[in-house]
Amino acid sequence: MTFRTAYGNARSENGWRMCNRDACERIYVPGADNQFLAAMIVRSGPSEVVLRAWAIWYHRNVERLDLFKSGVGDDWGWSAVNDVANSNHLSGTALDFNAVQYPWGQRTMPTGRKQKIRDGLNLFEGNIFWGADWARADEMHYQLNGGTASGDGASEKLKAFARRLESGHLGLLAASPVPTPTPGPVARPTLRRGSTGGEVKYLQSQLNRMFASYSKLTVDGDFGPATESVVREVQRRSNLAVDGIVGPDTWRAAGVK
Ligand SMILES: [Zn+2]
Repeated sequence: MTFRTAYGNARSENGWRMCNRDACERIYVPGADNQFLAAMIVRSGPSEVVLRAWAIWYHRNVERLDLFKSGVGDDWGWSAVNDVANSNHLSGTALDFNAVQYPWGQRTMPTGRKQKIRDGLNLFEGNIFWGADWARADEMHYQLNGGTASGDGASEKLKAFARRLESGHLGLLAASPVPTPTPGPVARPTLRRGSTGGEVKYLQSQLNRMFASYSKLTVDGDFGPATESVVREVQRRSNLAVDGIVGPDTWRAAGVK
């Protein structure tokens, strides 16, 4: 996960560090045709959790996100370049929904739909800002609000909101297991270099959460050299056999029951 300067700016408008693609991941929206959401790429971590939850809420309550079925669709997130020098797309903290319907600078959205969106924004407790509120309207555009960034990452406020969403708040995200300090039987599979899929994603996000000082993995579900290197470091520091293989002891060391 690496940072950058974009058009001379170290941070985008909302205070987030400008980042490269490797600090980001794709959002998946349950029930949508995700092949047309392939450009919905956002900053990994609490930012991804909150923006994903927002995308899911919008898809369920406002309108489908996969309306435009061509190429990678018209729903966009992180971008390498932008017309606006301090755009929050450059830091992976903004999303555009159904861009074809809502051209930049125009107000085309029906009133009822706008009201529905306002209701949703209230549920997100000020963490999401809508581009319709700019003088130059951008009705497709949603971004993490000012105050959601701190240092190189998320503010405590955003982290806390992301944790609540992950534990079932608003019913948008599947609840993730709550780590327990008590050693117990492990239902997790053994993972090693070459493993892929949801369990690897879970492991990577758990490592990033538990060992933020040295685990800055891209949560891509691909157990490669970077993931193995973090696993070995965890094992070294936990006095376990340093083999890079995630079995019961290493899962426990990573805070998973
Ligand atoms: Zn935008």
